[in-house]
Amino acid sequence: MCGIVGYAGSVGNAKDIIIDGLKRLEYRGYDSSGVALICNGKLEVRKRVGRIANLEELIKGETFDSKVGIGHTRWATHGAPSDANSHPHTSPDGSIAVVHNGIIENYVELKEWLIKEHGITFRSEVDTEVIVHLISVFFEGNLEDAVFKAIAMLRGAFSIGVVCKNDPDKVIGFRRNAPMIAGIGKGCNFIASDIPAILKHVREIYLIENNEMVVITKDDIKIYDMDRNEMHRDIFHVTWDAESAEKGGYEHFMLKEIHEQPKGLYDTLHRRLDENDMIKLDGINLTKEHLENFNKIYIVACGTAYHAGLVGKFTIEKMAHIPVEVEVASEFRYRDPFVDDKTLFIAVSQSGETSDTLEALREAKRKGARVLSVVNVVGSSVARESDDVFYTWAGPEIAVASTKAYTTQLMSMYIIALYMGITKGTIDKAYYEEFIKDLKAIPEKAKAALATEPSLQVFARELYKNEHVFFIGRGPDAGVSYEGSLKLKEISYINSFAIAAGELKHGTIALIEKDTVVVALATQDKLYEKMLSNIQEVKARGAYVIGLAKEGNDKIEKQADKVIYIPECRDELTPLLSVIPLQILAYYIAKERGCDIDKPKNLAKSVTVE
Ligand code: GLU
Repeated sequence: MCGIVGYAGSVGNAKDIIIDGLKRLEYRGYDSSGVALICNGKLEVRKRVGRIANLEELIKGETFDSKVGIGHTRWATHGAPSDANSHPHTSPDGSIAVVHNGIIENYVELKEWLIKEHGITFRSEVDTEVIVHLISVFFEGNLEDAVFKAIAMLRGAFSIGVVCKNDPDKVIGFRRNAPMIAGIGKGCNFIASDIPAILKHVREIYLIENNEMVVITKDDIKIYDMDRNEMHRDIFHVTWDAESAEKGGYEHFMLKEIHEQPKGLYDTLHRRLDENDMIKLDGINLTKEHLENFNKIYIVACGTAYHAGLVGKFTIEKMAHIPVEVEVASEFRYRDPFVDDKTLFIAVSQSGETSDTLEALREAKRKGARVLSVVNVVGSSVARESDDVFYTWAGPEIAVASTKAYTTQLMSMYIIALYMGITKGTIDKAYYEEFIKDLKAIPEKAKAALATEPSLQVFARELYKNEHVFFIGRGPDAGVSYEGSLKLKEISYINSFAIAAGELKHGTIALIEKDTVVVALATQDKLYEKMLSNIQEVKARGAYVIGLAKEGNDKIEKQADKVIYIPECRDELTPLLSVIPLQILAYYIAKERGCDIDKPKNLAKSVTVE
């Protein structure tokens, strides 16, 4: 989901206002940008892949006498970043332009219909293009009518902006499960996907609700529901400054992204399910024959993505009945691993540009492996070089310490495992259905896990001066311990260390002394008693223990000094929830220590060097 800005005014400076608005959305991350401007009865569209500076370079020297227009920054979901795939997209006669955030889930069938019934030639690979063709097919002189008819055919979560040179004074916006606001100016009005885009010009806005259309002209803003009733809306006064508006009112991007996890989890799952809850994977062509041919899977990644792989191993082995090895990319690429055409190589990377992962992928391909990648950035190098791609759709992640990319990578692992299991026949329909039902409950449970925030804030105040913290867990909890420990060390610079709990007594327990902080993850029902014994071991040496368990498993309270509970769920799925309090704890400890949370020292968001 990236950025939309729309403007209707009375002086001919629409281009400058729109481009300035787009720049204020740059912080969100994007891969291309573009504008559509109505200039003296003509619709002028300019778009370019890359930075907004590239777009500015393209239009340098051109003058646009325009009072109405729309602009977009794109974060590709369908079709790699390119000039042709950038927004705005236009109707065949060049009279209508559309910008769009989000995803049109049924674009394939709409595209087929438009080609068959209306002979439309498509000029991009983007789902968005169906919207403008639908509007154009339905346009008979009234733009609102045509947009309503088009919207009625769309499935998915999206917001759009539309202009038409045959209805030249207005900009239409529409919202369905993706943000959209209208800004009330003086002699001009705005639409935008986010407040910072227009905060320089307006402080009074209307919040557009789901399934509402907003129509702006220079003098007027009208809001309609799907039945075309005009809606009354109270004015919302923005009191934040631009910087806090970018962060959606949160103090840091990391905290904002932690809170975006229920939505990221929901989107990653629901966009892969059809009406019968069967998994449909665009961009993946792994057949039963392929899956039966594999005798080994490598999950290869770095940092947080590697930790997602550790959890993925449990589920994939269990459901697909194929042995899985998880390895850090920098080791894999130099050790001459045993890989052949019976190997499936799964690369996991948020940016899709992680150099070590990319090189490991190339090495595996050379040796004949089939490559499936799990990435967040469409058209990134890892995605381009893979046979099959699973996009996590977490949306742009700004904080260096990954949070929502990790949980959506975990969600991807479950979806891939279920897909493999049901396709190969190693899980049955009843198991599949039960598991999907439990996965569908996760976004709401993730919201409940976020409710641990106030108590974690208090723990953080008590603990932030410690220089050593240990994380322990068993099974999937061990994987999450590594991730919790990494979060803490990368943003608070505390020396934290994670270890499989059963391994503790083989050496590391020598480091446990009075008041050493140990975070003990005990979310696995079948390993619960074992974990209680491990907690006992460290307590006996004086440790201060923060336990993490499922609601209802309260025996832990007798041993741990503090306990954090996550909602009840099946053992396999606890990583999706248990990591959330650990992220929050790391965040508040770093905050107490006065660290630069979104940009920790020595770290880069995308590690493109070896
Ligand atoms: N699905 C559209 C695309 O891939 C919109 C993506 C966005 O939200 O920027 O272009």
